[in-house]
Amino acid sequence: MQPKMFCQSCSMPIDNVADRGTEKNGSKSEEYCKYCYADGALVNPGMKLDEMKSIVKTQMEKRHIPGNIIQKSLDVLPHLKRWKKVTA
Ligand SMILES: [Zn+2]
Repeated sequence: MQPKMFCQSCSMPIDNVADRGTEKNGSKSEEYCKYCYADGALVNPGMKLDEMKSIVKTQMEKRHIPGNIIQKSLDVLPHLKRWKKVTA
């Protein structure tokens, strides 16, 4: 089954509610995962797209994900809500 929801910062699937970040009122974010977003704010607001790319790459390599899949995820990153307006 294809994931329906992705973190708009790191592209991780967040179909599982437990993987989603939390809003200030304790509800779950519809847009970001728990690693990127907590208590109503981005965990690392100053992060650059390139930094995110290298983190995502490292994390996926740790999980032995094939290189072509990793590249796909990296290609998706600039189109996510968090990075759309930012020029890398
Ligand atoms: Zn994320």
